[in-house]
Amino acid sequence: MTIPALTLNDGHTIPQLGFGVFKVDPAETERIVAEALAAGYRHIDTAAIYGNEEGVGRAIAASGIPREELFITTKLWNDRQAGDAPHAAIDESLGKLGLDRVDLYLVHWPAPRNGTYVNAWERMVEIRDAGKATSIGVSNHLPEHLEKIIAATGVTPAVDQIELHPAYQQREVTRFAADHGILIESWGPLGQGKYPLFDEAPVAAAAVAHGKTPAQVVLRWHLQQGVIVFPKSSTPERIRENLDVFDFALTGDEQAAITALERGGRVSAHPDEVN
Ligand code: NAD
Repeated sequence: MTIPALTLNDGHTIPQLGFGVFKVDPAETERIVAEALAAGYRHIDTAAIYGNEEGVGRAIAASGIPREELFITTKLWNDRQAGDAPHAAIDESLGKLGLDRVDLYLVHWPAPRNGTYVNAWERMVEIRDAGKATSIGVSNHLPEHLEKIIAATGVTPAVDQIELHPAYQQREVTRFAADHGILIESWGPLGQGKYPLFDEAPVAAAAVAHGKTPAQVVLRWHLQQGVIVFPKSSTPERIRENLDVFDFALTGDEQAAITALERGGRVSAHPDEVN
């Protein structure tokens, strides 16, 4: 099985499907990430705030997988955006991960009330230039935030990682991203289990038609529109299931019927509320 790679606006590539570890218990992280690496995942999405970078690092070290085959993302938390704090934060994350560089470093939220996200982005550019992050990007940034950081630095983020699933497709952000060469990473790609996505008729029907599970159908829906996904699961069967999505394709009609499930509502926080 080959996981497709997408090319970022800085010329580097990213595996389109990865494994997310939000809410993976730090005590369980090494075992669960080892499970994911054994299943074939090579792209891991973590964050300083998840508290499990050390477990990710131990799993990477124990795997024996050559570093260049792995794609590791971590994120800068909101309370480390000011002054030179991002430099200390990346050093801490690298220490916990046991790495000398990450493949992608993200500003986790704009946290607009703090007024520090432009500074954070300026420091991210320095971190990239110092070789500690191959690529840099942001998460939860709306067009107004993206415009400000691009204007301040002339550097366009490689990705914007945003809440995106059939009920909430963030068209304003995805349009801005497409216009500026920013790739979208969908977080909560399965709706975080917060609404009955798998029971929706077009999802259930496509699952039956292709002999796949509803989760696999939703992951295909993401992949076929060119976004990056990293579903999270702690269950070995589901970890393997979520990777087994490259042997079928949704038809144009199936894809469109799932797109029509847009309801315009987040299941998680608004970027203005997380500071
Ligand atoms: P998700 O949509 O991936 O949902 C995860 C939940 O879906 C699991 O807890 C599990 O209950 C269920 N699930 C997973 N696979 C399944 C399957 N095959 N069948 C049935 N149920 C299944 O939500 P998420 O974990 O929040 O998002 C994925 C990743 O995105 C995270 O792990 C993290 O890396 C990232 N993320 C980023 C942010 C951010 O602010 N940048 C926020 C949330 C998540």
